[in-house]
Amino acid sequence: MIWAKEETYSREEIECIQLRKLKETVSYIYEKVEPYRRKMDAVGIKPADIQKLSDLQKLPFTNKSDFRDNYPMGLFAVPKKELVRFHASSGTTGKPTVVGYTRNDMRVWTNNVSRIACMGGASSEDIAQIAFGYGTFTGAQGLHAGLENIGASVIPTSSGNTKKQIMFMQDLGTTLLVATPSYALHVGEVIRSMGLDPKEDLKIHIGLFGGEGMTEPMRDEMHRIWGDQFLCTQNYGMSELCGPGVAGECEQLNGMHINEDWFIPEIIDPETGEVLPPGSKGELVVTCLGKEALPLIRYRTKDLSRLMYEPCACGRTTCRMENLSGRSDDMLVIRGVNVFPTQVEEVLLKIPEIGPHYEIVVERKNRLDVMTITVELVDDRLLDSYSKLRELESRVRKNLKALLGLDAVLKIVGPMSLQRFEGKAKRVTDLRGDGL
Ligand SMILES: [Zn+2]
Repeated sequence: MIWAKEETYSREEIECIQLRKLKETVSYIYEKVEPYRRKMDAVGIKPADIQKLSDLQKLPFTNKSDFRDNYPMGLFAVPKKELVRFHASSGTTGKPTVVGYTRNDMRVWTNNVSRIACMGGASSEDIAQIAFGYGTFTGAQGLHAGLENIGASVIPTSSGNTKKQIMFMQDLGTTLLVATPSYALHVGEVIRSMGLDPKEDLKIHIGLFGGEGMTEPMRDEMHRIWGDQFLCTQNYGMSELCGPGVAGECEQLNGMHINEDWFIPEIIDPETGEVLPPGSKGELVVTCLGKEALPLIRYRTKDLSRLMYEPCACGRTTCRMENLSGRSDDMLVIRGVNVFPTQVEEVLLKIPEIGPHYEIVVERKNRLDVMTITVELVDDRLLDSYSKLRELESRVRKNLKALLGLDAVLKIVGPMSLQRFEGKAKRVTDLRGDGL
C-alpha cells in the first residue's frame, strides 16, 4: 500500500513543491534562527537569492558541531511553549543533541513514518512489536506513532528482556518486529535455541529495521535464521532531521525511497563539500522542508550513499538512496588503507562456518597498526579440529586481504561467545588513542 499521493507525483510536481517549500524554509530560518542567519550573512546570501532548486547549493551547510555550539536549543525557531515534544540523541562524548517538535511537526513526522511502514509492507492488520529502546531516542516513539497511525496494533516492549519479547510474540501473535538488525538476529537465535522455528511457530513476517545499517549478507543471514517469509526492510533517519521517516525501503528492496516533499537530498564530496553529479557516491546532505521547531538547511549527515532516480516497480516515483555503505565517521584508516566495518562484515557473512556477530579491535604495536577480528563459529564441533580451524582462518584472512588489501589477525571463538546488543551493536574498538 502507498500511504500518500505525494509518493507518486511526477518529477516536475515534486520539484515544484520542493522549490515552494525551500523558499519558505529559507525565509523562515533567516528570520527565526540567529546562528543560521549569521552563516548566511557571512557568505552574502539572502532568502530572495533562492529562486530555483539549484540555488540551494549557495547556502551554507549545517553540521553536528552547530548543535554542540548552540546547545541545547540555540537552533530552535520557536519558543518553548510551542513545543510538544523533545528528543535527544545519545552523545557518545559530551552533551547529547537535543531536538524538538511542534504539534504540526509531530503530525508530519508521524505521517512520514506511516509512509515508511507501508513501504515495508505494514498495514492495519499488523501486530507490531517495538523492540527499540524507548526514552529520548526517536526510533521507538517514531515507529510507534507511525504504525498506530496506519491502524496497526502496537506492543511497546522496548529493547531487552529477550525471553519476554518471545513470550509476547507467541501469546499476542506479533506479525511485525521493529528492532536494530543485530538485535533481531539475536532474538532469532534465542528463539531457535528454545527449540522453536520462527517460520513455523511464530507469525512474524515483517521486520522494520533501523538504528544501524543492514548489509545484504546480513539480510541473507536474517532469512536463514527467521525464514524466507520474513520481509526485512531498513529505513533511514536521524534525530536531527526528525527521527525515522526520512527514507525507507519498499518491497522491491532496491534502495530507500526518500520523502522528497519534506526532504531535499544532495550528495557531496565529503572532502571539498562540492555537490557531485547525479549517480555519484558521496556524503548525504539533507535539507528539511517545512519543519517548524527545528528547521535545518543542508545538514551534513556523514553517511555515505548514492541517489537513484530511475522508476521503481512499486509505483513510487520518489528518488531512492542506496543502502548505506558506511558513515564517513566510521571509516578506519589502518596502515593508510581506508576500511569500513561493513566491508569486513560482507566478507565474514559470505563464509558459511561463521555467524553474523563479530568484533574488530584496532591497536598499534611497534608503531604498526594491527587489526584483530574476532568471529564466532556457527557449529562448535569445528573447535575440535585444529586443521579445519587453520584452513578456515587462512580462508577468511585471504578473503579479507583480497577485498581490503590488508592483513588481519583472526580470532575464532565458539558459538554465542561474543557480546550481544539490545540496541545498536558496538563492533569496533579503536585503541590507537591519539593517532600517533
Ligand atoms: Zn519502490
